[in-house]
Amino acid sequence: MNTISVNQQNTEQQDPARLHIAIQKSGRLAEDSIGLLKQCGVKLVKSKDQLFCKSSNFPIDVFFVRDDDIPAFVDGNVCQVGMVGENVLIEKQQAAMLEGAEGMFQNIEKLMDLGFGKCRLSLAVPQSADYGGPKTLAGKTIATSYPGILSRYLKSQNIQAKLVKMEGAVEIAPRTKLADAICDLVSTGSTLALNGLIEKDIVLESQAVLIKNPNLSEEQKVILDRLMMRLNGVRRAQSSKYIMLHAPVSALEDLQKALPGSESPTIVPLEGREDLVAIHAVCDEGVFWDTMEDLKARGATSILVLPIEKMLD
Ligand code: ATP
Ligand code: ZN
Repeated sequence: MNTISVNQQNTEQQDPARLHIAIQKSGRLAEDSIGLLKQCGVKLVKSKDQLFCKSSNFPIDVFFVRDDDIPAFVDGNVCQVGMVGENVLIEKQQAAMLEGAEGMFQNIEKLMDLGFGKCRLSLAVPQSADYGGPKTLAGKTIATSYPGILSRYLKSQNIQAKLVKMEGAVEIAPRTKLADAICDLVSTGSTLALNGLIEKDIVLESQAVLIKNPNLSEEQKVILDRLMMRLNGVRRAQSSKYIMLHAPVSALEDLQKALPGSESPTIVPLEGREDLVAIHAVCDEGVFWDTMEDLKARGATSILVLPIEKMLD
């Protein structure tokens, strides 16, 4: 079904001078994906079309689809790029290999981590189960929505187990005796606990990633470079802080050492004070309460830590 609508969109809206990006329509990644595009200054005009949206100020068109369909949109070059959980991309690639669909999804390239949608694909067993590592699962039944990734993992550990593929509600499988264990996505572990399960081993760590088809037009390459520069700027700004403080001249050197990840701070004289200066610095690493306490102990006063919105070198 999806393939047909993908091809229809393809002929209707494919424009080699614009970059097409696939993002999740609704779900855990939807809000952050659109938020990130907005932070990159990409304005999206709401349209009646639920699938497709053109940006009014950047040569980008956004396709809103189910997360599981994003790799296919990118593989088919209907969209040149996409934002998707790395777990979904790797599962599509592994499953295609297992099914002998040679080449499917293999040319998709991961461009960057996007910093949201963080989770892990983990093995979990009932709290009462006797578990001494993944080898305990030999000969057992494991329910999962990720048979491709799980098969690769079991093979690498030399374990033979029976897999039951479930599309959702995997966590109920042990209670209903459908499986002895599960392999499912976990972020806090609260869903597991609610179902009397306990997380044991991590099979894959994942987060949302930007993915790309290898065949872009020259115009699309230029647009993608601009987008990537902005994405990197937003990502760096997210992890950086602007710090301002007053420092006794005598403690200047010592204080500079304590500023996390900042190479050359700006030193500003303070009107009417020979003994004090102001230091302004961009800190690439987190500035926490203990960092501020450390700075204070080294003589700093009036310490201000500000968020940074955008960054471009
Ligand atoms: P769709 O309707 O688009 O198919 P979905 O229900 O399959 O959505 P979501 O539950 O919205 O998918 O999850 C999307 C992605 O969010 C996952 O593939 C994963 O990368 C990420 N994610 C982060 N934390 C979790 C979590 N605790 N459980 C499931 N997915 C998570
Ligand atoms: Zn999905």
